[in-house]
Amino acid sequence: MTLVNDAAPPAVRSTGRKFRAFTAKHLDELTARARLSPDERLAIRAVATVLPFRTNSYVVDELIDWSAAPDDPIYRLVFPQEDMLPAADVARIVDLLRRDAPKAEIDAAANAVRVKLNPHPAGQMQLNIPSFGDGTLPGVQHKYRETVLFFPKQGQTCHAYCTYCFRWAQFVGEPSLKMAGDDTTRLYDYLVSHPAVTSVLFTGGDPMIMGESVLRRYIDPLLDLDQLESIRIGTKSLAYWPQKFVTDPDADDMLRLFERVVASGRNLAFMAHFSHPREMESPLVREAVRRIRDTGAVIRTQAPLIRSINDDPAVWESMWRQQVRMGMIPYYMFVERDTGPQDYFAVPLGHAYEVFRDAYKNVSGLARTVRGPSMSATPGKVCVDGVVELFGEKVFALRFLQCRDADLVNRPFYAKYDPEAVWLDGLRPAFADRFPFEPAPE
Ligand code: SF4
Repeated sequence: MTLVNDAAPPAVRSTGRKFRAFTAKHLDELTARARLSPDERLAIRAVATVLPFRTNSYVVDELIDWSAAPDDPIYRLVFPQEDMLPAADVARIVDLLRRDAPKAEIDAAANAVRVKLNPHPAGQMQLNIPSFGDGTLPGVQHKYRETVLFFPKQGQTCHAYCTYCFRWAQFVGEPSLKMAGDDTTRLYDYLVSHPAVTSVLFTGGDPMIMGESVLRRYIDPLLDLDQLESIRIGTKSLAYWPQKFVTDPDADDMLRLFERVVASGRNLAFMAHFSHPREMESPLVREAVRRIRDTGAVIRTQAPLIRSINDDPAVWESMWRQQVRMGMIPYYMFVERDTGPQDYFAVPLGHAYEVFRDAYKNVSGLARTVRGPSMSATPGKVCVDGVVELFGEKVFALRFLQCRDADLVNRPFYAKYDPEAVWLDGLRPAFADRFPFEPAPE
């Protein structure tokens, strides 16, 4: 099993350069490569005062097809677009940038736009943060009985930011919008006092932004907990910085840490975020996947369905086929969440279902491990199972894959078909006066 000392093949080693981030201050120079006019570039800078922008040399040099920018899907994955925000908001900030207004004035204008963007959907701030002892547990969310999410303080950034990110509030430097914790002792005590928890999901940002020595400090104590069956790591590092597992200075140490988790009898699940098949093309990512799998970790894949980036069944079919070929397990197609520029990226549920089905019908059983399209909504994860006609009425067939009320999991329920609906809260119950997760009237 232990292959972590395998030297990377020469072709891979030559592409493993030192990580270099690009931020908003590089935006003008980078968007010039997409042949945008000065006005268009200024508008993009205005959007980037509200929504976070960060990319890196690997994404810029190896993933983006600059000859196709700004329409290239990977360009759109990381670069803000002018029409992601209401035109009046963009115009106001463009005016401030043009007049070289004081930073405080620009920040205030950007903040005013941000608060309109529902930074924490699905009751994350109110419903999911547990109380423990004398207070709450910062950086922890406990929504479903068996799974605890942990947001390690040093893992709250990413190698690059996705324009559609539903965690965008983590990156804008506004402490009241941020979830993060570093108290491993309290996390441990919380888990001990909740023996039904069998899985801890490290999330962010991207936990794989952390070096091995930091991640180890979070993971090691958990290995003493018999109740834990799995440790999951939600990450886009395989897409945005595969060097992490191949050529970074602590790549081998990281893989040894993974081996230790697996040797402790836990399932180490890499929840790898891939948005487009291009992200799996480089020899480097293939080598990274091979090395991670050689530790005994399992790689499951997931991504949201995003208008203008991957809203095409051929894209998903190609992703799932490639993932199976590389030994990964297709896991989720998500619906874009109700936060940030959702209006810009959303795909209506009826169309999302068609994209899913048109891709799903063409792949082998090994790729049909994938579930979706799924909404991570306030009451739970709701999958759109189909659009059907029942008793003369066109309806959505829905099902909870996960629910705050475990008793509702896997029970079908129905909503009136609405071709415009993009989220659960836009649906109305069919054949009932309320959805099963809604309380009965007093
Ligand atoms: S990798 Fe995940 S957390 Fe990071 S920007 Fe993309 S969607 Fe957001």
